[in-house]
Amino acid sequence: MSGGPESNKVVIIGGGPGGYESALVAAQLGAEVTVVDTDGLGGSAVLTDCVPSKTLIATAELMTDVSGAAELGVNFHDHQGDAATTISVDLARVNTRVKQLAADQSADIARRLAKENVEVVQGYGRLDGPGRVVVGDQSIDADAILIATGAAPRTLPTAQPDGERILTWEQVYDLTEVPSELIVVGSGVTGAEFASAYLALGIPVTLVSSRDRVLPGEDADASHVLEEVSKRRGMKLLSESRMESVTRSGDVVTVTLTDGRSIQGSHCILALGSIPNTADMGLEEAGVILKDGGFVNVDRVSRTSARGVYAAGDCTGVLMLASVAAMQGRIAMWHFLGDTVHPLDLKKVSSNVFTAPEIATVGWTQQAVDSGEMNAEVVMLPLSGNPRAKMQGVRDGFVKLLCRPGTGIVVGGVVVGPRASELIHPVSIAVAESLTADQLAQAFTVYPSMSGSIAEAARRLHRV
Ligand SMILES: Cc1cc2nc3c(=O)[nH]c(=O)nc-3n(C[C@H](O)[C@H](O)[C@H](O)COP(=O)(O)OP(=O)(O)OC[C@H]3O[C@@H](n4cnc5c(N)ncnc54)[C@H](O)[C@@H]3O)c2cc1C
Repeated sequence: MSGGPESNKVVIIGGGPGGYESALVAAQLGAEVTVVDTDGLGGSAVLTDCVPSKTLIATAELMTDVSGAAELGVNFHDHQGDAATTISVDLARVNTRVKQLAADQSADIARRLAKENVEVVQGYGRLDGPGRVVVGDQSIDADAILIATGAAPRTLPTAQPDGERILTWEQVYDLTEVPSELIVVGSGVTGAEFASAYLALGIPVTLVSSRDRVLPGEDADASHVLEEVSKRRGMKLLSESRMESVTRSGDVVTVTLTDGRSIQGSHCILALGSIPNTADMGLEEAGVILKDGGFVNVDRVSRTSARGVYAAGDCTGVLMLASVAAMQGRIAMWHFLGDTVHPLDLKKVSSNVFTAPEIATVGWTQQAVDSGEMNAEVVMLPLSGNPRAKMQGVRDGFVKLLCRPGTGIVVGGVVVGPRASELIHPVSIAVAESLTADQLAQAFTVYPSMSGSIAEAARRLHRV
């Protein structure tokens, strides 16, 4: 139903999840849609960030499972049957698979957009006022514009990537040799995920964190479990260690800390956060107000300060997740094209850190309870008591549920364990639909299953 003489003309700058998901919604609602993109459909999410890292982590997960195989009675032998086989990772092959999968996913998105009659223009888009986008010498008028240009890895003048041994997260898939000693700088989600993944692949890893713990933005109990497990598996954790510079001399990379200490390795990954792709795009000239750090200021229906100009995804800095980017973009289109729209509610977003174990979260946090911002009862159940966990040799992890004291309504939860990203879903539904702990407890869970611990935690929140 897209197109037509009366249809609204929407131009989307950026082909990541913020951009292409909105294009699909706008086309569905009958708009004439153009997506302008530089690097390839799918954006950083598909080509360099989310999809590649989770594909790499799929191999890391397999290695983690294999390392626990002996406990479950599985031994590996070579073809003569008299010596244990050495399990190793062919990093070049892993990286080839990663890049192929990303390219295929990008091609899938291109086909889907073509099927919905979305026009794709390759090039760098700029605003020429609030109603026109310029790409090279092409000028496209628009009734609404969506800025979904994403963000790029932050680097420092004293820590410049060389693409060979000092790497951003976008460059790691070009590695053909296995690092002999990897240093990851930054203990946010990206740093923690890469440190955990490469450790599982059998590479010695040092994680340098400027804070007192890894994942300072996540649940403290969850980051404690991750630290314990990572140390047990051999990761070196340097907390309260701020990086001053990263330099390379031949095959050796040196990370110097602000207190004068230094560590050496063969490779270093910089995970220092992201900066928005909003410079030199004519945004402020078109009336789009930028916040500190250059992020586009938006309201909860993705409107910027310029009439008819919306923004979604990492360029807004609201919550840097592919799922949030896509939702912000869809909301923008529903709003502009007059469909039913609910403003973005960050307290309903579920997210996951793909470390070993995984850490999944939704809704209000224990930190908000501890600081008095939210009044909630909290129950935490270790997974080690769960029968399925015992069968699978899983000892680390827990389920945590938060509910309101009077009504019993579930307002948040944390799951730490294998496949926590899947296990969080019932909690996410409870938070989204304001279910009570009793309602969550009454739904059947399979016996034996990890999700049994979610129901058990909910039962413990029952009040008479
Ligand atoms: C290592 C890593 C792993 C991650 N894993 C996950 C995960 O597991 N789950 C999750 O939900 N999130 C994850 N994220 C976050 C996720 O990748 C981002 O939130 C998501 O990419 C944001 O989507 P976006 O559409 O805003 O931008 P992007 O995906 O960055 O896409 C923006 C596109 O716009 C293009 N562009 C920029 N400027 C212009 C211009 N002027 N004209 C035309 N095109 C332009 C860019 O080249 C890019 O292709 C991860 C991030 C990183 C760094």
